[in-house]
Formats: sequence, structure tokens, C-alpha cells
Amino acid sequence: MTTDSVGIVGAGMAGLACALQLTSKGIPCAVFEASDAPGGRIRTDFHEGFRLDRGFQVLQTAYPEARAVLDYPALKLCSFNPGALVYTQGDWKLMADPWRKPSTAWASLNSGFANFADFWKLYRLRQRLLSTSVEQLWDEPELPTIDYLQEKIGFSKSLIEAFFRPWYSGIFLESELQTTSRFFNFVFKMLAEGQAALPALGMQQIPEQLANQLPQGTIHYLSPVEKIDGQTLVFANGRKESFPTIVLATDGLSATRLSEGFIPVTKTCSTACLYFSCEIPQAPHRWLMLNGDGHGPINNLCFPAGVSPDYAPAGKTLISASVVGPAAHGDPERLQSDVLQQIESWFRHKSKLFPRSIPWWGSPLPQLEHLRTYRIEHALPAQPVGKLSGSRLKHDFRPAMLRPGLYIAGDYLETASIQGALVSGRRVADAIASY
Ligand SMILES: Cc1cc2nc3c(=O)[nH]c(=O)nc-3n(C[C@H](O)[C@H](O)[C@H](O)COP(=O)(O)OP(=O)(O)OC[C@H]3O[C@@H](n4cnc5c(N)ncnc54)[C@H](O)[C@@H]3O)c2cc1C
Repeated sequence: MTTDSVGIVGAGMAGLACALQLTSKGIPCAVFEASDAPGGRIRTDFHEGFRLDRGFQVLQTAYPEARAVLDYPALKLCSFNPGALVYTQGDWKLMADPWRKPSTAWASLNSGFANFADFWKLYRLRQRLLSTSVEQLWDEPELPTIDYLQEKIGFSKSLIEAFFRPWYSGIFLESELQTTSRFFNFVFKMLAEGQAALPALGMQQIPEQLANQLPQGTIHYLSPVEKIDGQTLVFANGRKESFPTIVLATDGLSATRLSEGFIPVTKTCSTACLYFSCEIPQAPHRWLMLNGDGHGPINNLCFPAGVSPDYAPAGKTLISASVVGPAAHGDPERLQSDVLQQIESWFRHKSKLFPRSIPWWGSPLPQLEHLRTYRIEHALPAQPVGKLSGSRLKHDFRPAMLRPGLYIAGDYLETASIQGALVSGRRVADAIASY
């Protein structure tokens, strides 16, 4: 069967953004998605009354593209506090953004791992990035983030190890901090300009909101595409459908397979997210918690229902612990017991910080029940130096067109983020409309 519409493969953020933009231009399209719902890497499972995002992730509210296409009030966004609690040398320390939360300035200065010179450098970096546009960032000289922090900015080793390494490992999903400093600066700017937030009912609300704006019947779920033969999509069940224009809006590895190697293999970063619960009211606690020592598997931890109460049923606490890199892929039972042990050791001691915010802080931890573990091998495309170049990220559509009639979209072509996926999908739609 042949239609005159655009055939889009994949209903992740890139495919949805592309479909929405085409629809707004009056160009009909059909989206074919392998799984049973929209979102791709942004999915939320409802399990025993808990909302479990498939891997811990947040929406940076300052993402320019997200601001343009999402209805934030309808998502009922709930924000984390700006900064983190850091576990180091047997105690919790606060490292917050004093420009956003001035009441925390003294505690942050007393963290013991950041000195006055660090705060001055943080201030200067913040001011510089606030007055630099996102587009300008892609033309700046770049270094691996670790070299940028150590040599270019000159932060103290203690601040880098206790704060920057775990914080950005949780964002880059690689702990060597080899990701380009351009992406570091982009994320830093987004954090300074907005909030890290969760939709009240889970991250999947974001793609659902986009999918719900498409005309009914646009998305065909459980429709895995096996092959692209010229202008024909060949589905796993043998069905074929032809389109004058096809958009491959899958993750990078699927795009390599479907383009029969034309798209180079994307290197990826991996993570695991383990959820636990216990029978105690949710702590009203909106801080991200970081492993500042580097010991043990957990990189970062949070209480999602402290941020949005809808993440857990009444009277229960939800804990989300994230592991980054190879540690995420060891023996599953061993990983679960190591993570559990680390949580128990982190909350065994009383802390001077926020003594009442976690009801069981300092007393024996109530029995934790393991809910689920998500191991995500290809969570993010790697973004080493050379990946984010100015000419590609600005207005050059050509790399998105493999040949006339076949386009590609996805976060692996932009920044590895919700922002990147949305921009990439929208640009392909613009390119199709103007071809
Ligand atoms: C654990 C984790 C944490 C993250 N944290 C953040 C964060 O905090 N902030 C942030 O901005 N970003 C974060 N990200 C990144 C963000 O989720 C992604 O960049 C974005 O969702 C990618 O969207 P995409 O459309 O490019 O790709 P995907 O979401 O991968 O969508 C591709 C779609 O194509 C479908 N597909 C693939 N092959 C086929 C086929 N053959 N036939 C039909 N359909 C197919 C897939 O099922 C999928 O739905 C995180 C990602 C993960 C996994």
C-alpha cells in the first residue's frame, strides 16, 4: 500500500516532535512504534501503587525546545531543590545553588569540600553561561569535561570528586567525565536557568502529552519495522507500506541496523535504576543525594515521592537508586544486595542536616522491599569531544537526510537529552516541509 503521507519509524520524543511539526504544517504522517506506548526511553510503569520511571531522569524546565512544545502547567511539574546532599566521609553535606537558595549558602560553604575560590569560580562560570546563548555554546573550544573542570576552570580536586563527578556522572551516564565540555556547559546553563523537575504522574506524561495532540490513529503501536526497502517499510509481520518520505526516528543502534550500516554505530552509556519501598510516610525531601566518596555501586539516590507525592501510595516511601556504567551490569542479585547495603549504611547515622526530613534517619532503617530494577544498556549516546559541533547543531539539515526521501532523527544526532531529541525531530519536519 502506498500513501502520500510521511512514514515515521519510532514514537520516542524525536518521532513525536517530528509528527507534531508535520501535522501543524498540514503534512499528513503515520508513526510506527515497536512497543505498546509512546515515549521510547521515557516510560513509567505503575507497580503496586508506585510510579516507576524506567531509569531515573528529569526534565530540565529551561530546555528551550521543551518550553516551546510542552504545556508545563498541564504536566504539573514538581521540582527538585537546586543542589544536592553529598555523602562523604561518613556524613551528609549540602552543596546547593546559593544564588537560587540563599538560605543554604552557609551550609554549602561549610561542606568542607568547596572553598571560597571554588564559589568565586562557580559564580563566574554561572554568569558567563547565563549570558551565552545555547547556539554559541556549540562553537566554543572543547575539552573532556574532567580536563575542563580541573585545568580550564581550576576547581579544587575535592569539589570535583565529591560533587561534580557524581552529579555529572548521573547526567552523562559515564563516570570518567570524558563527555565534551560543551555538553557540560549546556547542562550547567539549563540548571542555572530552570529547574530539574518530574511531572506529577511520572516522566511518561511528557511523551503522552505530545502523542495526545496528534490526530487519532496517527500512531500505530506494536508495529516493529524490520527493514527499509527503498521507500517501503517492511514490518516484522511481513506487511509492507510505502511512503514518498520516511523518517527513521529510532535510537542510534536501531538506525544503524535499519540503514544497513549506513549510519555508523553509536557508542552508548549504560545505567541501572533500582527501586525500593518501605512502610513509612514519604519524607518531604526534594534533594538529590550523591555518592561523594566513590565507594559502592550507587551514584545517586532520591525519594521521587518527596518531589511528587503521586509517585508512591499513602504511607509508603519510594527510594530510587541509580548505578552508572559497568557496575550496572554485574550479577543482578549481587547488585541488588550491594545497593541495599549501601542505602542502609548511608542512613544509619544521624546527620546534623535536616534531621527531621527523613523520619527514620539515625534509627535502624525499616525493612526495605525491592520493587524493580531497570538495567538500561543503551541509555544514552556517548558524547565525547568532537560529537557536538557548531555546524551540525545549528541550521544544517543535510546530515538529517540520508538520501532524498529518507531522513533520520534522534538524540544521537543532537544532544543526548529530551531537548536534543525534540530539536532533531522538529528540524527534520522543517527540512521535509522545505524540500
Ligand atoms: C536512564 C535514562 C536517563 C536519562 N536522563 C535524562 C535526563 O535526566 N534529562 C534528559 O533530558 N534526558 C535524559 N535521558 C535521555 C532522553 O530520555 C533521550 O535523549 C530521549 O528520550 C531520546 O529520544 P529519541 O526519540 O531520540 O529516542 P528513543 O526514546 O530511543 O525513541 C526511539 C523509538 O523508536 C522505537 N523503535 C526503535 N526501533 C524500531 C523499529 N525497528 N520499529 C519501530 N519502532 C522502533 C523505540 O521503541 C522508541 O520508542 C535519559 C535517558 C535514559 C534512558
